Amino acid sequence: MKLTRRHTLALGVTAFAAIKFALPSTARAQLDGGDAYALEEGQVTIHPISHASFVMELPDRVIYVDPVGGAAAYEGMPDADLILITHEHGDHYDAETLATLVGEETRLVTNPAVFEMLGEDMKARATSMANGDSIEVDGLPIEAIPAYNITEERLKYHPKGRDNGYILTTGGKRIYIAGDTEDIPEMRALEDIYIAFVPMNLPYTMTIDQAASAVAEFQPDHVYPYHYRDSDVEAFAEKVAASNASTKVVMGGWYDKA
Ligand code: ZN
Ligand code: ZN
Repeated sequence: MKLTRRHTLALGVTAFAAIKFALPSTARAQLDGGDAYALEEGQVTIHPISHASFVMELPDRVIYVDPVGGAAAYEGMPDADLILITHEHGDHYDAETLATLVGEETRLVTNPAVFEMLGEDMKARATSMANGDSIEVDGLPIEAIPAYNITEERLKYHPKGRDNGYILTTGGKRIYIAGDTEDIPEMRALEDIYIAFVPMNLPYTMTIDQAASAVAEFQPDHVYPYHYRDSDVEAFAEKVAASNASTKVVMGGWYDKA
């Protein structure tokens, strides 16, 4: 196979991610320039912030996902052009944090339940997306993917139809943010995902076995375990590696900061 420039870049990024993976968390924190991935045009840089929240620098805008915990956690990050909110739980939606991060031009995308909780000022800049909706925000295609529990005793946390995951398409690549969900058929059926963010903690989302099984089925190029608390993400990475998936598991410093 003849390596194109794009392949070469992708390999370089993968090698970098593998090195990061092996570093102790203190060393990782010093590399806080984010994780860069080549797109067909430009690049995307991922900055894990904490638990379920991260910042993404796209070629044409900056996106914050589920910002919570106060503005200090986002210090040093470029201002948000777009903020995505998956659902109403306190580790994903916090009105005070939101108010401090929103600038004059910042747009919001939320699920319908969070949209109803927004004040008038926030509503005016927000778009509500229900499961299955597709929109473009200033030229950025966004799809709302269902996010819900399927295990009997967990159904109360994320009932089907209420909460969102999102897929963004940027620079010819699809980025999937799963939100709080289990290994639902809609996740397993995804195709052509470049970078995925997949939760794995109990009782709210799923086990590492469920997550690894789903990842082995939809085979994103890269997957970040996130929203995992004390789950054994190293074991998750081993399970993915042992599957036939070509997916690279990327560890972020989700719980490094105090
Ligand atoms: Zn939740
Ligand atoms: Zn959560």
